[in-house]
Amino acid sequence: MEKRFNGNFTQQEPIPEEGIDAALAVLRSGRLHRYNTVDGEVGETALLEQEFAEMVGAKYCLAVASGGYAIATALRAVGVLSGDTVLSNAFTLAPVPGAIFSVGAVPIYVGVTRDLTIDLDDLKSKLPQARFLLLSHMRGHICDMDRLMDMCREASVTVIEDCAHTMGASFRSVPSGRHGAVACYSTQTYKHANSGEGGLLVSDDPEIAARAVLMSGSYMMHGRHIAAPPPEVFERLKYVTPNISGRMDNLRAAILRPQLRDLPERIERWNVLYHAMEHALANAPQVVVPKRPQDEAYVGSSFQFLLPDFSSDAISGFIKRCENRGVELKWFGEPEPKGFTSRYDSWQFTSIERMPETDDVLRGLIDMRLPLTFSKRDCELIAEIICQELNAR
Ligand SMILES: *Cc1c(COP(=O)(O)O)cnc(C)c1O
Repeated sequence: MEKRFNGNFTQQEPIPEEGIDAALAVLRSGRLHRYNTVDGEVGETALLEQEFAEMVGAKYCLAVASGGYAIATALRAVGVLSGDTVLSNAFTLAPVPGAIFSVGAVPIYVGVTRDLTIDLDDLKSKLPQARFLLLSHMRGHICDMDRLMDMCREASVTVIEDCAHTMGASFRSVPSGRHGAVACYSTQTYKHANSGEGGLLVSDDPEIAARAVLMSGSYMMHGRHIAAPPPEVFERLKYVTPNISGRMDNLRAAILRPQLRDLPERIERWNVLYHAMEHALANAPQVVVPKRPQDEAYVGSSFQFLLPDFSSDAISGFIKRCENRGVELKWFGEPEPKGFTSRYDSWQFTSIERMPETDDVLRGLIDMRLPLTFSKRDCELIAEIICQELNAR
């Protein structure tokens, strides 16, 4: 009989018991709002910020309501104004162009390479058109950050990093998010730490950090932050920075703190799953797995491969057959995207120019999540089913 995979691609692990206990303590206290503290108490949200800043080696950190909110806040904090152009990835998730749109700015999309990183040659040619780059490390693939930063520095382009898929990753030992002026992370359920919804923003720039704190809705209680700039920075900015509320609360911070502590161990387990997939697909002649540079330390929380020689019809049939056997694949080249959008041509709220090379990469791009509830054996079974169905066409 044909083997079938019975796992669930969207099932994450439970919240660590320590996080559940901390959440119950917050609930029992009734002090869920981050600024609702008693004398001498440092709230869970402030502690989370301090611990995350330390983890990535940033001076300042702010926890907020979502990854998308963190990005929009970062754009505002670096000075993006209505009508400004912002360079960004043609291949990323919808909240990225959405954040650009939300501040009234205009995205200019940059193509993707076969290794699934931003096309640095395309970027170079477009740098003169903008003062900002919102760089998304989509699906955890990190480009040559040294080359990118050199190019951007030379062109006086400020870099904002979207690290939704690179929390815990690094490039040449520099943690992802520590190259640009400011970086944003998501703690939404499907990312590397799970608080349902949530986001984190880090920066070494006191003005950017203070503006972000004020905008997130600090009600003049920035003194209760322990990973924020000193009071004099807030003095300069507090009456000229609007409040655009989007704070994190203590309940979510409480369940995130133990998850951050466990992150290195979780990354190891993710990479065991990733390597199992990579190994099992290495001998499938139709499959191209993106090369990952030596300089990149990644988090294999999802897996991508290309089927460059398949027609769209052949891919469509392959996806269907895998689905029938319990293997849920995403196809970024699907003519009608399902559920979420990741392709620039799905974002027609601003004008777009066709990018044939990017279209060509995305047309054959397949993706799957690798939740930590999967075992290595699960990945081997998934790969076995994929290989059989590739040959069944
Ligand atoms: C998830 C995600 C975000 C942020 O999403 P939220 O759901 O707002 O937390 C940003 N960029 C990418 C690439 C993402 O996948």
